[in-house]
Amino acid sequence: MDYDESSLSLGRRSSKIPPPVPKKKPRKDVVTVSELRCNTGSQESLLSDSFLDIPVDELILCDDLTRLPILYDDIVLECVCLRYCERLFYTWAGPTLVAANPCRLVDYLYTSSQIKHHHNQVKSGVDRRDAHVYSIAGVAHHRLTHDLGLVNQAVLVSGESGAGKTESARYMLGYLTHVETKILQVPRSPLKGVWEDMEPTDIQNKILASNPILEAFGNAATIRNHNSSRFGKLIRLQYGGQQLRGAEIDTYLLEKTRVTHQTENERNFHIFYQVLSGVRSGLLKDLFESEETYNILLGEATSSDLANLQETLHAFQQLNFSRSHQNEIFKVIAALLYLGNITFIQEEGQTNWTVNKASTECVRSLQGACVLLGLREDQLVNTLTVHTFSVSSAQKVSVFHKPCERRRQCVERRDALMQLIYQCLFIHIVNFINDKIRADRTVWSHFLGILDVYGFETFEQNSLEQLCINYANERLQQAFTFRYLSAEHQMLKEEGLLGMDVPYTDNSSCVRALDSRISVFAILNELKRDVKEDEACNRVCKALEHTGLVCAPSSPKHTPGFVICHYAGPVKYDAEGLLHKNKDEVPQEVWGLLAGSSQDFIGKLTVGTHGVDIEAGRRTTRKITTLSKFKSSVDTLMKTLSQCDLHYVRCIKPSEGALTGMVDREYTLHQLKACGVIETVCISQAGYPVRMCYADFYARYGGSRIERDVAASSIALARSILGTSAEGDIDTAKCRFGYTRVFLSESALHTLEKVREEKR
Ligand code: ADP
Ligand code: MG
Repeated sequence: MDYDESSLSLGRRSSKIPPPVPKKKPRKDVVTVSELRCNTGSQESLLSDSFLDIPVDELILCDDLTRLPILYDDIVLECVCLRYCERLFYTWAGPTLVAANPCRLVDYLYTSSQIKHHHNQVKSGVDRRDAHVYSIAGVAHHRLTHDLGLVNQAVLVSGESGAGKTESARYMLGYLTHVETKILQVPRSPLKGVWEDMEPTDIQNKILASNPILEAFGNAATIRNHNSSRFGKLIRLQYGGQQLRGAEIDTYLLEKTRVTHQTENERNFHIFYQVLSGVRSGLLKDLFESEETYNILLGEATSSDLANLQETLHAFQQLNFSRSHQNEIFKVIAALLYLGNITFIQEEGQTNWTVNKASTECVRSLQGACVLLGLREDQLVNTLTVHTFSVSSAQKVSVFHKPCERRRQCVERRDALMQLIYQCLFIHIVNFINDKIRADRTVWSHFLGILDVYGFETFEQNSLEQLCINYANERLQQAFTFRYLSAEHQMLKEEGLLGMDVPYTDNSSCVRALDSRISVFAILNELKRDVKEDEACNRVCKALEHTGLVCAPSSPKHTPGFVICHYAGPVKYDAEGLLHKNKDEVPQEVWGLLAGSSQDFIGKLTVGTHGVDIEAGRRTTRKITTLSKFKSSVDTLMKTLSQCDLHYVRCIKPSEGALTGMVDREYTLHQLKACGVIETVCISQAGYPVRMCYADFYARYGGSRIERDVAASSIALARSILGTSAEGDIDTAKCRFGYTRVFLSESALHTLEKVREEKR
């Protein structure tokens, strides 16, 4: 696809982000591409005020941020932005891949020949592979299938909503299944290479088919992304004897509240609109009579809903969901649409609230839901409007019934029922898919995982969902810092420089403040039922004040809550709804209602999922909170990842609205920081930001004479310029010599540059 260069511009640059060291003259706010191109043409540098002049071309061609001659966040940002304008969307940051969302169709990047190119680069073991998401998938695959001492592999894809995580994961899955088809091919004749088109195998098709289904049920249009995943996902591709044998999918934290509530300009899960468009167009027959409006569907159906339904149906077929099974699933969706239309009124002359039987629409919805769910009308009405609880004494258990005295109570019960049904349906679908794609344990030995989880989130209002998501990100960041540090240590070891200190930000204390014995999670979990939300937040602040990481909101204007200083920045969590969401109580009667359905499918739906609490390891009757369930799934995830080589894809959205051809510097820099790219580069920078190979060093500071032993001459040269005396050693805080490179501190660079200037 062609694109209009003139439409590209580099967006605003804000003063909010603290300027990096060293201080430079402020540059102008907006740089247009034509200016950039002009600079590029004349080899003039935009960074002429930095220590080393870095020509724009050099920045554009620098496909690894850690190889930039100077590692400051400003220059890192410049490099990413310039490359983006040149449609170079991928850049390495050491072993990490920075993937900027192209925000336009770039199919040419994902062709079969691209796969072949990257596969060949990986296979031939070239030193520097082109930056591409295929390359990172390729390396993980190669290590898993070829290297000695096979190790599980995991690619962690992160970034904020709409940054391109799911697309990247999809391309990687595409690469892995594609490569598999090609390399498994046994050449029939010597003329036919191993690279030959072949139909994907059944298991590959099934694995690929899991995507449209999970997207239909787990994705929704939000203001940030028209196809936003509302759950986290880890897919583990199982390999045995160098072949793909099967896969298994774990999902995390489905945003089930979306079934009943959506904010303005957002939609419910895609499947609702798909089913409706199917019913209205006649593609799905005899399912139910479609109504005019549905209370749970904000947002319009789009023309693509029908096409997407067809894709969902095709995927269902590939994964052997039988026709009747599909029908059962769609009936549940239809039932939810009906349930959402049930309304409540106060009984005449009474304080009690009940289902509004005076409204014909409401009665139709009630009846519709009951037929589809296999429930008796009185049972459903009762469950929605009467609170049943039991009190046990030594002698007997007494059961009490208490009709709802507020509309809100009925609505909460209805919403809890709907969310429970949807969550159970989602889990059922994931389990069913897993049964179809999972390989027998005897045929696979290692796995390659792709993790697509929500990135760090901070909104105007942050609640339990953000607390969970940000906690998961803290844990992943902790693993990243730990792993990256060891990689950096490895490099230093290879350079013979072990003992060099690598300072970095350790977020372990924040993780502890969140999940240890005395922590945010512990306090929220242990609160008694009658504690008010503001009081709960106060307790959190008091108990954890000493960590310096948790505090009360500073401005009295703020609504109650607490602030946590995450590695990616402070986030204020609001008290409202926090405890309720954490308790996540589904009334026992609601469970019972579904279990008693006359329809087998509905009855069974809750069975597997009720076990979730039991799986979490506690069989006590005490309710397990959302936070402890989530922590336990993150623990399991981290345990899985601890058995893997880790690879990172950091997705970046260059502008908030994901506008084609726009780069918002402030916004981009914020993400580069939040996802740890700047940290990655800073770790390289730590103490010795400048790394030069001996030849470059000697050429820059030595002069024109070519020496035979460049390393020795460079060291002698550095000694003469930086050393305290001719004989004395150089201060190791200034400069270190590896086997292949010189590591320079900022001050050493400064001295060298000054001497160079004087000589000229
Ligand atoms: P996330 O999962 O991070 O929320 P998605 O992967 O769903 O984001 O991407 C959001 C949108 O950005 C996609 O629907 C697509 O339009 C665009 N996009 C993301 N990655 C790419 C890519 N590599 N090439 C082209 N478009 C992309
Ligand atoms: Mg996504």
